[in-house]
Amino acid sequence: MHTNSVIELNPDSYQNNLLFLKKMYGKNVILSSVVKGNAYGHGIEEFVTMAHKSGVSHFSVFDVAEAQLVKKQLPKKVTILIMGFVSDELMEWVIQNDIEFFVFDKKRIDSAIKISKKLNKKAIVHIEVETGMNRTGFVQNELNSLISLLKKEENYIEFKGLCTHFAGAESMSNYFRVKQQIERFEKIYAYFCVKNLIPKMKHSACSAASIMFPETRMDMVRIGIMQYGLWPSPEVFASYISSKKKKIDPLKRVISWKSQVMSIKKIDACEFIGYGTSFMAKEKMKIATIPIGYAHGYSRSLSNKGRVIINQHRCMVVGTVNMNMMLVDVSDIPSIQIGDEVILIGSQEKIDVSVASFSENSNQLNYELLTRISKSIPRKILI
Ligand SMILES: *Cc1c(COP(=O)(O)O)cnc(C)c1O
Repeated sequence: MHTNSVIELNPDSYQNNLLFLKKMYGKNVILSSVVKGNAYGHGIEEFVTMAHKSGVSHFSVFDVAEAQLVKKQLPKKVTILIMGFVSDELMEWVIQNDIEFFVFDKKRIDSAIKISKKLNKKAIVHIEVETGMNRTGFVQNELNSLISLLKKEENYIEFKGLCTHFAGAESMSNYFRVKQQIERFEKIYAYFCVKNLIPKMKHSACSAASIMFPETRMDMVRIGIMQYGLWPSPEVFASYISSKKKKIDPLKRVISWKSQVMSIKKIDACEFIGYGTSFMAKEKMKIATIPIGYAHGYSRSLSNKGRVIINQHRCMVVGTVNMNMMLVDVSDIPSIQIGDEVILIGSQEKIDVSVASFSENSNQLNYELLTRISKSIPRKILI
């Protein structure tokens, strides 16, 4: 078991984010908690347990393995929706367990019908339509035959939702593309209605779309990054805050990542530190070793750039991040000792290392940085 560091989840912060989001969307919009990518690195099992205690009962995942983890963790009452991959072999389990799933091509609808007939149990599907992202989704000229098929097989297929996904709602540079997607989606929905095949719900919004294009909220929003207390991009935050009187970030980060000082040593001026020559001490320095490296998800691109907090001091990463270790400059902390707490993400008193600052430093998106944090690190829900 990994004992070099720990990830803590703060349920009060989560509750705060949830309240903020629910109030903004109103009670007629379902909030689906998106927990793909190991719940954006938070630890899917611990995270869904915490979310469920806070009242979330709808979860969206990418694949069957993730659906199985959520299912194992939570009682029958929750809804689980698979937005991505389902193999034919595992579709039987999916249908048997009332797991809902995206259907975006002919092959998958055929499999769903076949397996549902075999089990004599309805498959609960969300039809994903292509509106401009050009990733997955039924295209215009497939709709007629799809509609006939859904009508013919209505005893085997429950048409639960019509959905789509936007190609970059977090950036205004995609404004026209997203607007066009919204328009196309509404037209396709209207077409289904004209054909007298009406889905129980329609949904399209991720975090960014729900803020930048409120009309995309529809019956359900699929919220990932914002429930974890982070904004999809600085632009979305700016857009939100610009219309508000109080210029305070309503979201609170749920995750913290903590390790400890492994070793301390003194370095003479003009010595290189760590592998190679990327860092040379200009004067005498004191260096602490932290038992975390890129193998644990602390990106190598944070070499000579990352910051951590020790004893209420912000310390720079010096030299390259190694596979299992990194070195930080602790020259300014006279009292430092082996075993002292090291904050990789989180805060101590008023000093904070945010995921955003962390990812700007390493040119990684919030999303990527979080999901790279190793699964083997224990996750703990704070009480
Ligand atoms: C990941 C994902 C979301 C959630 O995105 P956030 O930006 O994290 O809110 C919503 N819908 C789909 C289809 C996704 O893949």
